[in-house]
Amino acid sequence: MSWKDVNDAINQTIGGMMNLFFPRKCPFCGAITGKQLLCDSCRRDLPWCDEERTVGSLRVTAPLYYEDGVRKAVHDLKFRSMTGGLDCFGQLMAQCAAERYSGEFDAVTWVPVSHKRLKKRGFDQSRLLAASLCVDWHVMPLETLEKTVDNPPQSGIDDGDERRANVLGVYRVVNADAFAGKRLLLIDDVCTTGATLSECARVLKSAGAADVVALTLSMVRDGR
Ligand SMILES: [Zn+2]
Repeated sequence: MSWKDVNDAINQTIGGMMNLFFPRKCPFCGAITGKQLLCDSCRRDLPWCDEERTVGSLRVTAPLYYEDGVRKAVHDLKFRSMTGGLDCFGQLMAQCAAERYSGEFDAVTWVPVSHKRLKKRGFDQSRLLAASLCVDWHVMPLETLEKTVDNPPQSGIDDGDERRANVLGVYRVVNADAFAGKRLLLIDDVCTTGATLSECARVLKSAGAADVVALTLSMVRDGR
């Protein structure tokens, strides 16, 4: 037995033990999935989305609609700090980006939460989503924006004009030199009306981004 075999055997054993103690669960329904990221029934029945939407001049797409198990999974991530689904979400988003935006972006970035929210929550869910979708591409997401105002959450505002007004001017560019002339893939968890994504894209373009396309884990059906 070579060292490599020993190593592989150890890794397999550890992997097996991890699976035994922390069995992988489907992030959408909680079913035990073995080695798969997603259970078979969710693979079949989730509200898959093949829509591409335009908000102003910004293109937005998502692998899923924000409904049922998807809504619960996003809530679990954001409000219950359940990060176990991140590799699944990242893979679904990476696949979606490869299918719909192939060759159209040079770098990946995300819509940040405010410093206050970050302190309270302890993590930035969109940054984690961006990092997860970048894993297989062997790149790191680029930090391009900070949220300087802790505005009321968009989820509490129904009116489209009010949603746009609520996010106007709340994002500021960081690292402008790092993305000047680059085409950016902008990541967020949910797209409702696209007001937030649209404002971020506006700020990024005015700071020198060559183009911005947006990808979210999920989007609200008919959310305009
Ligand atoms: Zn499932």
